[in-house]
Amino acid sequence: MVVQRVAVIGAGPSGLTSVKACLDEGLEPMCFESSHDIGGLWRYKEKPEPGRANVYQSVVINSSKEMMAFSDFPPLPELPNNMHHTEVLKYLRLYAHKFNLLPYIYFQTTVTSVTQAADFTGTGRWIVETETVDSQRATHVFDAVLVCTGHFSVPHLPLKDFPGIESFPGRYFHSWDYCNPTGLEDKTVVVIGFGNSGSDLAVDISRVANRVYLSTRTGAWVTCRVGPKGIPADIAWITRTGALMQKLFPSWSNRMFEKKMNEMYDHQLYGLKPKHSFLAQIPVVNDNLASQIISGRVRMKPNIKEFRESNVIFTDGSIVENVDVVVFATGYKHSFPFLQLRSAYMLHLYRNVFPAALSPPTLAVVGFISGAGSINPAAELQARWATRIFKGLVSLPKQEDMMKAIEKEPGMHYRFSGSGHNSLQVDFIPYMDSLAHEIGVHPNVLTLCLKDPILALEVFTGPCTSYQYRLTGPGRWSGSRNAILTQMDRVREPFRTRMVPGPETSSLSQQNVIMFFGCTALLCWFFCNMYIRPVFPLW
Ligand code: FAD
Repeated sequence: MVVQRVAVIGAGPSGLTSVKACLDEGLEPMCFESSHDIGGLWRYKEKPEPGRANVYQSVVINSSKEMMAFSDFPPLPELPNNMHHTEVLKYLRLYAHKFNLLPYIYFQTTVTSVTQAADFTGTGRWIVETETVDSQRATHVFDAVLVCTGHFSVPHLPLKDFPGIESFPGRYFHSWDYCNPTGLEDKTVVVIGFGNSGSDLAVDISRVANRVYLSTRTGAWVTCRVGPKGIPADIAWITRTGALMQKLFPSWSNRMFEKKMNEMYDHQLYGLKPKHSFLAQIPVVNDNLASQIISGRVRMKPNIKEFRESNVIFTDGSIVENVDVVVFATGYKHSFPFLQLRSAYMLHLYRNVFPAALSPPTLAVVGFISGAGSINPAAELQARWATRIFKGLVSLPKQEDMMKAIEKEPGMHYRFSGSGHNSLQVDFIPYMDSLAHEIGVHPNVLTLCLKDPILALEVFTGPCTSYQYRLTGPGRWSGSRNAILTQMDRVREPFRTRMVPGPETSSLSQQNVIMFFGCTALLCWFFCNMYIRPVFPLW
């Protein structure tokens, strides 16, 4: 089986980085994008377009620019840390231009069907059917397929879970339909669902509405984009040191995070507190929810029991009368409408990428994850791994071993769970590292300590940015060391709009050094207890 021609479906962030991964491996990508432009979700649409993800007008990315950057393309220093959707699109355009990706993209061309060729078992080939906006149909044969169509395009609207909704005389819609709060002025609005979309919409709408009620079944931990000392929270928290501490001391880490969250505002007092611990689920990121709750603009409510015309009855017996609008922020369905595979193939995805039941492995899904970090760098690693599998440079485990791994390692693989709820969630750094190991680009911190201690310190204690996966191995980038050592400069740059004289306040690197030595001490203690004490009990 020789793979040369690869179909890439979708030109959002995952599709763009997949085209680049193909080119880097000497493959011939042909990318089909149903819209007229790149950017996927981040190309704002005045009116939501069926079959495509949508963002609302004021959306600002939760991930900071360094954490969402691709591994060989650091963002411009002057870009804000948490970018508006227009700036995310600008970054993606610069990426596409820099690596000359546009010539490989066929716009306004929808993939309507992907089927295995008659000789699939021997060749792994696929028949891909496309249709252009002016109804021109074409059939292509590809050696492999990368599916990069996102997972925020098919709204999940569970009306049957809300008895009486058919009697509701007001307007209701899914969060996918929302662009801005126009038309919701002075209305009483109930938002159902307390994920990132639900909390964002509740805040956005509460600026013009009479009152907004945010209904949640489970509650959630709420964290902010702005972290300690005002630096982006993901820069502060998504570190290898942090991941190690979470692995060694999970209960302590949970307690530490929950304490910090409650120091910002008491989650119990604010009606937010979930039953699950902090690390069990991705937290909601919202900097404004607490201020909208304290000012009474947003009121937290439990799950809805039923609708009685315009009255909403909650499970605690409370009633909100005369509701005008209900917004269902109830998530999305996982869907690959063009895939004519036996559906069982897509139920178990090894590392969220390869259908474990498919042989030979010539179809992969990229960007089909969620996690406490940004999707882009993980999607990039998925694409780098998938293209190396296609080329036969790396191989997958045996089918039964993949199935066993899928059962045994939650947070590392996709296993369809009926509702689809949370099945995309991965443990961010361990997941990225597992892909990096497969590709051969995992940074070895111990070797780095000997060769380049300054870099090792930043890799181990600094933000786990994607540049780390270009330090070594296939696809090594000579600029990666500099990108890592200058990442905090790019974080600080956009704040320099009014220079204040005087010494800079203590930097994150100082905290990192303390964390580094703290961790080293803990590891020594661990090592002594595990290996030295049993041999020399009096030591
Ligand atoms: P998309 O961006 O959805 O792109 C898919 C592309 O495929 C689209 O261009 C679509 O037109 C095309 N397509 C679909 N079907 C076909 C077909 N049959 N034929 C041809 N083309 C097709 N992630 C983060 O990491 N950080 C964040 O802060 C963050 N914030 C978010 C906020 C919101 C409100 C939402 C909804 C999501 C957010 N995400 C965030 C997740 C976001 O989905 C990813 O960051 C990223 O956009 C996913 O890229 P993608 O390329 O996989 O999918």
